[in-house]
Amino acid sequence: MNWYKKASINNQLVESISKNKDIDSTISQKLADDIEKEINNLNVSYRFEPLSRALGIARNSSCSISTKVLEFPVADLMFVLFHELAHYYQYRKYGTDLVLFIYTNSEEQLEEDARKLKSIENTADKFSIMKTNYYLNKYKINQKITMSGYSNSTIESIKSQLVYFKKIVAQKKLKTVDEINDFIYNMIK
Ligand SMILES: [Zn+2]
Repeated sequence: MNWYKKASINNQLVESISKNKDIDSTISQKLADDIEKEINNLNVSYRFEPLSRALGIARNSSCSISTKVLEFPVADLMFVLFHELAHYYQYRKYGTDLVLFIYTNSEEQLEEDARKLKSIENTADKFSIMKTNYYLNKYKINQKITMSGYSNSTIESIKSQLVYFKKIVAQKKLKTVDEINDFIYNMIK
């Protein structure tokens, strides 16, 4: 990651946060610096780009966040950024095989895999809500997260998504989490 790219995500964050009428330019810069620091602590590169079918995806090479998110109020912007950040903590803590098996286990284990996936996503949401509220509080920003994340997803809906992905992963003979994430990335962009 070169200097220009680092400066650029910071600029994009500042520009986005400044659009919140309740936040002045000093706070916008400080909050952008804090968010950037959170990302850099994990040594992950984030980039904003047009994504048509998702708000973000945590890939090995970089984390892609939809440019639509830059138009969100800062509470929701942080919710998306920190949700994806949580996945990198999970990858480092548990390894990526946990996710790999969810996609490569046979359909007999669908129920169990769906529950695991829901739990991974719910944990990422909890982490994200905690971080977002911390920064809202730190800068006395009177906003609430309006997105529901995975809390509204039922096991049934996750199961039907997962069946679809398991079929693709088997068909395309995808062998690693990187291959799966890159495949999903190409599908959603
Ligand atoms: Zn997620």
